[in-house]
Amino acid sequence: MLKTSSLALLLGLAGVAQAQLSDTERNLVAAVREQAPVALALLERSVRINSGTLHPEGVRAVGDVFRAELDLLGFSTRWIEMPAAMKRAGHLVATHEGGTGPRVLLLGHLDTVFEQGSSVPLWERQGDRVRGQGVNDMKGGDVIMIEALRALKRVGALDDATVDVMFTGDEERTGAPLQVARADMVALGRRADYALSFEGSSKHDGVDTVSISRRSSGGWVLRVKAKPAHSMGVFSAQSGYGAIYETARILNAFREQVVEPSLTFNPGLVFGGTDVSYAGDTATATAFGKSNVIAREAEVLGDLRYLSQEQGERARGKMQAIVSEGNLPGSTATISFSESYPPMPPTEAGRKLAELYSTVSSDAGLGPVGILDPAFRGAGDVQFVAPYTVAIDGLGAQGRGAHTDDEDLEIASIERGAVRAALLIYRLTHPGAR
Ligand SMILES: [Zn+2]
Repeated sequence: MLKTSSLALLLGLAGVAQAQLSDTERNLVAAVREQAPVALALLERSVRINSGTLHPEGVRAVGDVFRAELDLLGFSTRWIEMPAAMKRAGHLVATHEGGTGPRVLLLGHLDTVFEQGSSVPLWERQGDRVRGQGVNDMKGGDVIMIEALRALKRVGALDDATVDVMFTGDEERTGAPLQVARADMVALGRRADYALSFEGSSKHDGVDTVSISRRSSGGWVLRVKAKPAHSMGVFSAQSGYGAIYETARILNAFREQVVEPSLTFNPGLVFGGTDVSYAGDTATATAFGKSNVIAREAEVLGDLRYLSQEQGERARGKMQAIVSEGNLPGSTATISFSESYPPMPPTEAGRKLAELYSTVSSDAGLGPVGILDPAFRGAGDVQFVAPYTVAIDGLGAQGRGAHTDDEDLEIASIERGAVRAALLIYRLTHPGAR
């Protein structure tokens, strides 16, 4: 299957949408529903293992749980080690060769933001919801993926399907260097016709949504230097304005001149004075200064989120110009930029894939699925494969408060997600079946 045919195929698949399911598809839905108790048990087993990103043994143990399931389904599984200096667990990769048909890549992650010693309970059942470490972000999505594959296997639709699965071990705090940490994912993305990522699904205005675009996540550091002098001379040509006034000029100009739709940048930490320093491992700044001394140094740490490389370049260009030109007397400034997650701009093929997902959802009686505004979502792993394939994200579970002490999950969202995912994977891997 040539990757260039993905859009044509999707157009065809969307075109034959019927408000009903084939016999195989009805069996798929039934298989998912029968397995609901098994799915919940699998979720509990994986959630009861702490897998904070900085706890590699726990991340590997969760990987072992999912690996055993994938082995049973006939996948060939392997653990990819990262260099020891990265201090990350590595990744689980599984492949099922079907011989023909498009290749679909499924993405999940094993780690959570809850490190060992977290006060959040591992697993706390609350009626039809569960609160716990990573229940929604994203062990719920991981289980949805596995249950969809289990249902496909059950009805005989997995045997000829070509599917790669990747569970990363460091999504919440990606290992460095990024190029090494995501090299295997990029390689899988390059050979995939479609990529489906199972991060949490959000409801917007009462409608379930998926993401076809996500904004980059990058950062910038602004460093300002000025002449130290007695404060009585501030504003004079000889003493200048100092590093803090220059920092204020720059930040205000960013706000006034750089803002545009889908672009945000937030100064998260500002510090200045006579002497400053910053400790990255604890995200803590220290500053020494006196009110009667013109500030010699100032620094600002910020983020930058944009929807396309062009928008990122435009923003960086404007910010750079503001930093280099019009400096207040006696001051100089520099800015450096970093990009950790590349932007995932919306594409026509992505939109068609989301439409197909909405169609299978409607066909299964679960209602249509909308497209989420990228402003409502942070960055994620899918962005590393999006440049090479047709990708959507947000096929996971539904819950509240991801990354907070109150992170929880609506248990029924596992079954809904697995029904939709099983049907979508089935139609993508069997384009001639309908
Ligand atoms: Zn996540």
